[in-house]
Amino acid sequence: MSTDYYSVLGVSRDAGPEEIKKAYRKLAMQYHPDVATEDGAAEKFKEIGEAYEVLSDPQKRDIYDRGGDPMGGAAGFGAGFPGFGGGFDFGSIVDAMFGGMAGGGPQRGPRSRVARGQDRIERLTLSLVEAAFGVHTEVPIEAAVLCATCKGSGTADGTKPKTCTTCHGRGEVTQVQRSFIGDIRTTSPCPACQGFGTVIEHPCPDCYGEGRVRGKRTVSVNVPAGMQTGNRIRIESQGDVGPGGGPAGDLFFEIAVAKHEVFQRHGDDLEATIDIPMTAAALGTEVEMPTLDAEHEDCDPADATVTIGIDPGTQNGTRRVAKGKGVPRLRARGRGDLIITVNVLTPTNLDADEREALELFATLRGETGTILPHKNHGGFFHKLKEAFSA
Ligand SMILES: [Zn+2]
Ligand SMILES: [Zn+2]
Repeated sequence: MSTDYYSVLGVSRDAGPEEIKKAYRKLAMQYHPDVATEDGAAEKFKEIGEAYEVLSDPQKRDIYDRGGDPMGGAAGFGAGFPGFGGGFDFGSIVDAMFGGMAGGGPQRGPRSRVARGQDRIERLTLSLVEAAFGVHTEVPIEAAVLCATCKGSGTADGTKPKTCTTCHGRGEVTQVQRSFIGDIRTTSPCPACQGFGTVIEHPCPDCYGEGRVRGKRTVSVNVPAGMQTGNRIRIESQGDVGPGGGPAGDLFFEIAVAKHEVFQRHGDDLEATIDIPMTAAALGTEVEMPTLDAEHEDCDPADATVTIGIDPGTQNGTRRVAKGKGVPRLRARGRGDLIITVNVLTPTNLDADEREALELFATLRGETGTILPHKNHGGFFHKLKEAFSA
């Protein structure tokens, strides 16, 4: 063994796992073939990787410290490092190598008490007006926050975690089983310290060693115009604070849009139904209809209503489209349409005069007598006329 792994990483011989990880990460970023241009950078990068592979593994480090060959003539550096050899995004390589540490992935040695917190998803119910035109709102949430008493350390005031006496700080224990083919060594996380390598003998009285507590707070949310049920708004680092006071996860608001009593939404279009008396449908008229905009506080009075033209002879179920009177498109220009369906009302509870007038009307139209079933071709009145004029 000619290489001094400690000097390669620039750390002392009693450096802890965190210090080694930090030193490696810094050097790896500096000498990574994707970013380094100087001669010999690739060689240096390989050397750094080898040093880290040995020093980050308590077992290999132990062998190395005692003058042995920790690589044991095996495949050597690179075997346990998927992704090296190009074609990968550098950031994702570093993340892959370090991301697994908290979860006790392929990395060996004591795991950190500090880890990133969970993402949180909260439901946010909006009115149709809020969803359509956007809103700024304050939402109370409950999430894990940093423990103010211990600032995340999890220890009682003036105390520190003690090195675990079971694993001596290694975070893992090795068992040797004798068998006819030789000794079988199995390594597992230390049960006494859950793999942390340290034990908190005097936990913080407020968080019981977790470094975080449940807390209530209010989050400001800017809801953009055009949101729909199921859309999510992400607010970075506002989720749960991690164990040991680790960085917070993200907060997501999942949107639910409440039903409106007049307008139904279909994508960016709004749909509504208007009731028109039979006489208005026959004679024709204009209807001033309040828009969804009218319920929005910043509404321009010109946008508060839309005029719907009802042509003479309008049939039940006729649709009218008011262009651009629907919902603003999410993060885009323009708006959907407002689609109006005409519902023609048949008069009920006729008094004597009304009845007489309608009977006269029917006589004038030749619309008295037996009515035949509607056929699929031609309109109802067309068939009716045919039946009576025969
Ligand atoms: Zn605490
Ligand atoms: Zn232990």
